[in-house]
Amino acid sequence: DVNGRQEAGDERRRRRVAVVGAGLVGSLAALNFARMGNHVDLYEYREDIRHALVVQGRSINLALSQRGRRALAAVGLEEKVLATAIPMRGRMLHNIKGMTSVVLYDPCNNQCLYSVGRRQLNEVLLDACDKFPNIQCHFEHKLTAANLREGSMEFRNPKEEVISAGADLIVGCDGAFSSVRQQLVRLPGFNYSQEYIETGYLELCIPSKLGDFQMPANYLHIWPRDSFMMIALPNQDKSFTVTLSMPFEVFAKIQSKEQLLEFFRTNFRDALPLIGEEQLIKDFFKTRPQHLVSIKCRPYHYADKALILGDAAHAMVPYYGQGMNAGMEDVTLLTGILDKQLPLDKALAQFTESRWQDAFAICDLAMYNYVEMRDLTKRWSFRLRKWLDTL
Ligand code: FAD
Repeated sequence: DVNGRQEAGDERRRRRVAVVGAGLVGSLAALNFARMGNHVDLYEYREDIRHALVVQGRSINLALSQRGRRALAAVGLEEKVLATAIPMRGRMLHNIKGMTSVVLYDPCNNQCLYSVGRRQLNEVLLDACDKFPNIQCHFEHKLTAANLREGSMEFRNPKEEVISAGADLIVGCDGAFSSVRQQLVRLPGFNYSQEYIETGYLELCIPSKLGDFQMPANYLHIWPRDSFMMIALPNQDKSFTVTLSMPFEVFAKIQSKEQLLEFFRTNFRDALPLIGEEQLIKDFFKTRPQHLVSIKCRPYHYADKALILGDAAHAMVPYYGQGMNAGMEDVTLLTGILDKQLPLDKALAQFTESRWQDAFAICDLAMYNYVEMRDLTKRWSFRLRKWLDTL
């Protein structure tokens, strides 16, 4: 009968989906696959961040924009995330003398970006995953091998034990250095390119003072300095996370405490007392500057067997603040296509076709914005070069 056939059809559409990577895109993708009735295994290399004392990895906070908000709204989480997010209504530019000026993002409609904590956002998404009986989370599972054709995978846990698993569909949300993508690269017809920029980044902190922010909270602060720059986003605890981006050769020239303080006195004189000299020295020399990579590839799928989303599909330099937002938008787009209930191979092919040009474009825009943000105040470059020559 009709009901019986419908159920059989539904059953066929219910797949065992393995989502590799429980970061921002992976946990969101898991939620969407589960809502469609699939059985989802969510595998994550790291421990459960909800129990971690220190979360390793990139940027502590991120700018959430419309694309990300729409994706969160679709799983009923937008309000929860925005409740603790900090609106940023524009850029606050800090010139070399320490004077500031504001450029509002949207003076007419008052739209804004939101500063969200990576950890908080990931926790909200994982908590939502826990509410689905058809999502099983497997932390401390690092994908080490996969056969996409057969849907077989091998994971390693911290004890170096090998765990084998299978799935009808493997979804790689395992970031810029994706292991799932490594398998796709071997397949004929897969295009791939990557570009590292000569700029690295390092995170510093402007702590709160007397329980309050030390700078106006509702802005994305930028110190543009031609070949390098610094930005700061507000955190819920009233501190700012500061990201210093500069060519590796400039990082390499700063070897001593004195050189570091002199560099900041010359280039970021207003930020130095806010960060604090001691803290700056500690944080600057504690970590090495991180590399930034831009990755373009396609197709994003293999038959009805595998798919990559988020940074695994299109990592970009962070200067447009769209990496996470675009990754979340992947999930929105994919869900819309899957809802049409086409055969899965056709649906995944449609996803690649409707996504790759936009993904390439956002990677390019992020690269252009990298140049644009650095160059907002060109005139300081000459002074900087002179100063660097003295080092
Ligand atoms: P990831 O966040 O990299 O998550 C991948 C997950 O997969 C991780 O949890 C990892 O542990 C796991 N994993 C990796 N390998 C394996 C494996 N083999 N097995 C199992 N698990 C694995 N984007 C914005 O939209 N706004 C911003 O303001 C912004 N600022 C940024 C600032 C900086 C400095 C940087 C570097 C990036 C910024 N981004 C921003 C980009 C954003 O961080 C990424 O686009 C986003 O994190 C991508 O999410 P993802 O889930 O695809 O990948």
